[in-house]
Amino acid sequence: MRYFQPISVSTFYGEKREVTYDGPPDECPLCHSKIDASLVAALLREHPEEIDKALQIVFQCPLTDCQSVFISHYWHGERAVESGVFHLQFSEPQAPREHIFSAEISNLSPNFVAIYNEAMATETHKLELITGMGLRKALEFLIKDFAISLKPMESESIKSSGLVTVIKDYCQGDLKIVAERAAWLGNDHTHYHRSWEDMDLKHLKELIDVAVNHIQSAILLSQYKQMMPARSRSRETLVAEQTNVVEFADHTKKDQRPS
Ligand SMILES: [Zn+2]
Repeated sequence: MRYFQPISVSTFYGEKREVTYDGPPDECPLCHSKIDASLVAALLREHPEEIDKALQIVFQCPLTDCQSVFISHYWHGERAVESGVFHLQFSEPQAPREHIFSAEISNLSPNFVAIYNEAMATETHKLELITGMGLRKALEFLIKDFAISLKPMESESIKSSGLVTVIKDYCQGDLKIVAERAAWLGNDHTHYHRSWEDMDLKHLKELIDVAVNHIQSAILLSQYKQMMPARSRSRETLVAEQTNVVEFADHTKKDQRPS
């Protein structure tokens, strides 16, 4: 829990001052572990151009496996330095947080997983103008690898076809609906003209998430159909069915008996 506390800081001119801040970050921006950050140094900047970086504090991650040093930036709002409380704005550098996909998705399309995580890394580094393009590319690998898994003999045709064509030809039901919309939004992030100006990266990520869930379900469904084919019924069901067959056969025989 974050709470206000005093901290001794140095100014640009070497003076010492005591200010109030809302405490160190509780997560390391590099290893993303919950931490009790160790204070290294604190600097109060004089008239900084970037007001959200008015107080800069250097911390170190106390975890043996990490030990990374990072800078947390604080701002006191519109109040005077003497009376304001410095609130944490953000920490840097930030290591991208890897998105872990299920084994089914990772096995289906390792390229999708790699490209998706690279796209999200651009967002972490505030390079959001190219994040959508990366997600659009990741979506293409996901859909095409899924289509190839359905029709391996058509892989060359699938690889050379456009994404929307592959979606139309190989995706069905809700997957087709959501994949088409993801492709439309992804194309918006790739081309000069935007058709869906009210939609942003959040919507594109949601659509890809839903497509991933549908493909995951389709893979699991296929696997269970293979592991448990319909004829592999329970022993009780088989016995009951065999009994019915015998009874029906006997009855037929009786009817066909010459009178
Ligand atoms: Zn760490």
